[in-house]
Amino acid sequence: MPCKFCKLKPVITLPNSKINLCKSCFTRYFEKKVLRTIKQFSLIGKKDHVVVAVSGGKDSLSCLYFLNKLANKRMEIKISALLIDEGISGYRNKTMIDAEKFCKENNIPFHIASFKKEIGLTLDEITKKLPNTIPCSVCGVFRRYLLNKYSRKLKATKLATGHNLDDESQSILMNQIRNNTALSARLGPLTGVKRDPRFIPRIKPFYLLTEKETATYAFLKGFDIEFNECPYNTVSFRFEIRDLLNNLELKYPGTKHGIVNSFLEILPLFKERYKNMEINSCKECKEPTSSKICTACFLLKKLK
Ligand code: SF4
Ligand SMILES: [Zn+2]
Ligand SMILES: [Zn+2]
Repeated sequence: MPCKFCKLKPVITLPNSKINLCKSCFTRYFEKKVLRTIKQFSLIGKKDHVVVAVSGGKDSLSCLYFLNKLANKRMEIKISALLIDEGISGYRNKTMIDAEKFCKENNIPFHIASFKKEIGLTLDEITKKLPNTIPCSVCGVFRRYLLNKYSRKLKATKLATGHNLDDESQSILMNQIRNNTALSARLGPLTGVKRDPRFIPRIKPFYLLTEKETATYAFLKGFDIEFNECPYNTVSFRFEIRDLLNNLELKYPGTKHGIVNSFLEILPLFKERYKNMEINSCKECKEPTSSKICTACFLLKKLK
């Protein structure tokens, strides 16, 4: 079946609709949908300084590319890129090169914050010290911690990530299974429950686009990225949920959209429930936390 609109050779069949699109019609569809998401959820305003969290992978580079294109049209938006180097040998050093090259070619300020420099240990070292802990859970804590701290240092008003609909459907299901409504309240295209200057609001412009659509966009844009998967990716809870959802999607197309769309309907209730949550300053590092001591400092104590 040719492209629905111009009858050229298709490059993708859209999930759920069986609509075929050619290269230019798909790119137009993708970019329009991202712009609609930004508008619908008020993700970016005039004079925002958006720091994009990049890993060097296709999702984050596509997000950076798109937002930079937007900033070039709307001159009042400023874009920078921030990469967290967790210290994962044979993996992060490669993706770091891709990210830096991309930023250089596109004239985007590029910043790096590393686990080693900031917390004194690489993720590889941490996993040796805590052999019974799932690497992704430790990594996630320190990544979020450094992303917030550094984007605040860079005077960002928003922190953008390349999270797509697949990622969000996984997070929603993981929180449901763990009965963690406080974490669910923090999800959505614009994260967080209550505004606090110490927390830089996170935005997800690709929130309503699938992994397949994002990958196709990156491929069509010709991003020169070597496929590279984190070696720790196979041992996480998220990995199992990802597999489960992919299998369900194959059998029951529309599963992931269903999870995300129904979640969006109840999200305001979650946010309302936690809107009075107290935000303290961590006793150790002064970073914002809902407890007395933040999770990063709690983990650091365990590591000492
Ligand atoms: S897959 Fe896990 S360990 Fe690897 S970078 Fe992502 S969160 Fe960190
Ligand atoms: Zn077409
Ligand atoms: Zn702390």
